[in-house]
Amino acid sequence: MNDTPTTWAHDFAAKHGLSLRYDTPLPHEVSGYKYDGPEGPVVVLDSALPPERQHFALAHEAAHIVLGHTDELDDNEEREANQLASELLLPHEEFSTEAWRTLHELKELFPHVSFEALARRRLAYIPGVLTVVDNGRVRYRLPSDDFSAPPRPTEPEWEIIRKAYDEASDQQLDMEGLRLTATYVATNPEMPRVLLFVEEG
Ligand SMILES: [Zn+2]
Repeated sequence: MNDTPTTWAHDFAAKHGLSLRYDTPLPHEVSGYKYDGPEGPVVVLDSALPPERQHFALAHEAAHIVLGHTDELDDNEEREANQLASELLLPHEEFSTEAWRTLHELKELFPHVSFEALARRRLAYIPGVLTVVDNGRVRYRLPSDDFSAPPRPTEPEWEIIRKAYDEASDQQLDMEGLRLTATYVATNPEMPRVLLFVEEG
């Protein structure tokens, strides 16, 4: 249970004029929601979630407020809120000069954000395709704008993914003008994750 704000959540809420409350589980399996309290907006977070997930939920709710969204939300507004949440978690001024770093280096600089959120934000700065693999299975594959990639991982990509799992460590391979970087993450030991970037080398 994480039912007191982390330092990051406390500072973020203060900066955006939000009050924080904690509860678990939240209705409708959401990771956070907001309502208008007598003294301004209140964001409710799921205390059972890891801090990084709480932080994303907080930034997502703040994004709805910044964007002036009302309570009836459509998919497009949810996408906009996720996009802005990513920018609020990792502001351009702080992130842009660091985006080239490895995910482990980025995690040390921005410990309040998950590896996944760091990887997705990195795509906005460094063209490439990100593949997220859980327990050896592709969860999704996301190219940046203007980067063409086959819809599924290629055989060399699979080789480096397998090697990352076998050795439980990061791997890198340069081939045909491309750089393949696999980051091994065992935050959840039952579901080790590999985040693979393919970028121009
Ligand atoms: Zn939302």
